[in-house]
Amino acid sequence: MADKRDYYEVLGISKTATDAEIKKAYHAMVKKYHPDLHPDDKNAEEKMKEVNEAYDVLSDSDKRARYDRAGFAGVDPSYGAGAGGPGGFGGFGGTGFGDIGDIFSDIFGSMGGFGGFGTRTAQSQNAPRKGDDIRTDVRISFMEACRGVDVSIRVNRLEKCPQCHGTGGKNGAAPETCPDCRGSGVQRVTQRLGGAVFQTQRACQRCGGKGTIIREACPACMGSGTVRKPFSTKISIPKGVDNGNTNRITGEGDCGVNGGRNGDIIVRINVTPHEYFEREGNDIYSEVTISYLQAALGDEITVPTIDGGESFKIPAGTQNGTVFVLKNKGVNRPYSSFRGDHHFAVKVEVPRNLNRKQAELLRAFDESLDDRNRADKKKFSDWFR
Ligand SMILES: [Zn+2]
Ligand SMILES: [Zn+2]
Repeated sequence: MADKRDYYEVLGISKTATDAEIKKAYHAMVKKYHPDLHPDDKNAEEKMKEVNEAYDVLSDSDKRARYDRAGFAGVDPSYGAGAGGPGGFGGFGGTGFGDIGDIFSDIFGSMGGFGGFGTRTAQSQNAPRKGDDIRTDVRISFMEACRGVDVSIRVNRLEKCPQCHGTGGKNGAAPETCPDCRGSGVQRVTQRLGGAVFQTQRACQRCGGKGTIIREACPACMGSGTVRKPFSTKISIPKGVDNGNTNRITGEGDCGVNGGRNGDIIVRINVTPHEYFEREGNDIYSEVTISYLQAALGDEITVPTIDGGESFKIPAGTQNGTVFVLKNKGVNRPYSSFRGDHHFAVKVEVPRNLNRKQAELLRAFDESLDDRNRADKKKFSDWFR
């Protein structure tokens, strides 16, 4: 899979670009890539998608801040398009347009319960509804998070019953029109209160407002039309993900109702901390122990990084606690070539358990030192005098 390009790079702007500059860059890109303007360019549509996605994030100050902080993982739990198991990752395509099923249930669902009459029409009951999202967790090691890893996901999800093909009827028999309400899902009820006669409506009790009934329920799903089944898939976790990031596998959650689309699987990634490295954003922090001799005379040392050992020249006279930075040796931003830095602090180990001979040698050596050899100590005693 090709790495996703950095949004600033996509729009050809700097990280400090103003809103006006972002807008200007976007308009230029639209002119350059809009498929309507370039009908012969086969890549125009892909390019335009990339540009729209970048603009969507960078033109929104909140999303932009999150992107600056955490990269792609900060702006969309699915990290945008990527190759995955069946269905792949949802990416940005899944947002923006409302789901037709959700819109239907918004409109019709709100009709039920009005004024306490509890009228739900067959139409509302039978409107397409999106299936539920399934949440699950995976645990990966610190190094797997740095390098990327393929993991298997296993969930139990609702699927269309294979025996009745979702009808809920035995042997796949289709539901029949409810004889009590003739398919409307509604019953009229006449009530007398004092001298007055009220006509009210309520959901048909026989069919529960669906307008249809099942004569004989499918034994596999008890008439529900769905069964819960184990489902496994593999996802590719990109290098650079951080603890708590989530990954969305579109369309692999619970099946939809009445032809609504499936829900998604939302995978939360838990990263086990490392015993040696610490991570903050895309930067890595560690400590390296050196001897007092290496600190005094300088030396070429090997610094463990997430890529393996990096050689580094410690200058002579290095003090305990000094922090050095290895540029671009930190963690990748997911789907980007951007990398953080590796910061390591030097810990100078003072020799312990000296025998008499060693102590004498050290004392003799110490007596040979003058103020030029210990500027800090001199400064301190001058100040304290
Ligand atoms: Zn069934
Ligand atoms: Zn009915």
